[in-house]
Amino acid sequence: MKAVHIKQFGGTEELYIGESPEPVAGDGELLIQIKAAGLNRADILQRAGKYPAVPGESDILGLEIAGVVIGVGSGVTGWREGERICALLPGGGYAERAAIPAGMAMRLPAGLSYAEGAAIPEAFLTAYLNLVQLGSIQEKDYVLIHAGASGVGTAAIQLAREYGARVLVTAGSEEKLLYCQELGADSGWNYRQGSFVPWLMETTHGHGSDLVLDLVGASYFADHLASAAVGGRIILVGMTGGSKVPMDTFDLNPLLMKRISIIGSTLRSRSREDKIRLTQQFWRSMGPKFADGSIYPVIDRIFPWSHVRDAHEMMEANANKGKIILDITA
Ligand code: NAP
Repeated sequence: MKAVHIKQFGGTEELYIGESPEPVAGDGELLIQIKAAGLNRADILQRAGKYPAVPGESDILGLEIAGVVIGVGSGVTGWREGERICALLPGGGYAERAAIPAGMAMRLPAGLSYAEGAAIPEAFLTAYLNLVQLGSIQEKDYVLIHAGASGVGTAAIQLAREYGARVLVTAGSEEKLLYCQELGADSGWNYRQGSFVPWLMETTHGHGSDLVLDLVGASYFADHLASAAVGGRIILVGMTGGSKVPMDTFDLNPLLMKRISIIGSTLRSRSREDKIRLTQQFWRSMGPKFADGSIYPVIDRIFPWSHVRDAHEMMEANANKGKIILDITA
């Protein structure tokens, strides 16, 4: 089969489509004809040699797909050939076919295209894991979501709204903020105008954030401690703003006095069993909302996979609102 390979770690010019061994559905697995794959920041880091593939898993890029079941491995019940699915996978998404654990497949509602299906797994499972399961989101919580127009951000806004939270977002342009408000954010702040803290404190009438989905990391660490509510939860999910916090900005006082919890979280390194459990809990509660259209995957652009280099460049330029998708059939 054909798959995207990396000549050597580096820039987008290292990506090319070449031959790869055919995957086989093992015990408990489904073989999928991939129709579309979602792009993620992890793919960019992996291409650059900064985020190696999970040991024992495919080193082909691609952590989420949508496609058709074309083979059912031994021991699998409840699936048959021809069904449309979307799924996380531990690697191997930028390819014509992949074998995935059957428990990680989500049945695609009839109204959703393959591209829309491929835009669901990473963004929505990340949002669900961190807001709902780790962040214990509550109705009326003030939830602060950074990079609100990112793939994860657009999913998180919709989930937070579904849970009745008050959604505050930051982003790097007015256009992105407006888009976040159309998705259900109550208020937005353009971080290029300065610190988000005064806006956050004013918008929450001095309460602060109950829950932060932190996609930025070090550059916001001190501001998060300063602006968290009593009992606030800060869930660190991304480090686009760096990983090293200067020690002179790290004050333990608010952490203790406000009983703040800080939780670090990654999806990719979780075990297959963990991902299966998460997927099933998520799809049981949220699958019907995709079917009735009350939540939906946001796609900025679909590239034919022969243009995978352009797709990576668009993500690296921070130009997307929502997800960038590869059409694996074109
Ligand atoms: P994406 O769609 O590529 O969007 C990322 C956005 O982040 C950019 O468009 C940019 O928007 C903003 N940004 C970039 N650098 C920034 C900075 N220094 N400060 C503030 N904002 C910045 O990304 P994604 O795929 O949704 O992923 C979002 C983040 O979540 C990434 O950091 C990714 O690594 C992380 N992630 C983590 C997990 C996990 O399990 N831990 C899973 C999925 C994704 P603006 O124009 O608004 O700046």
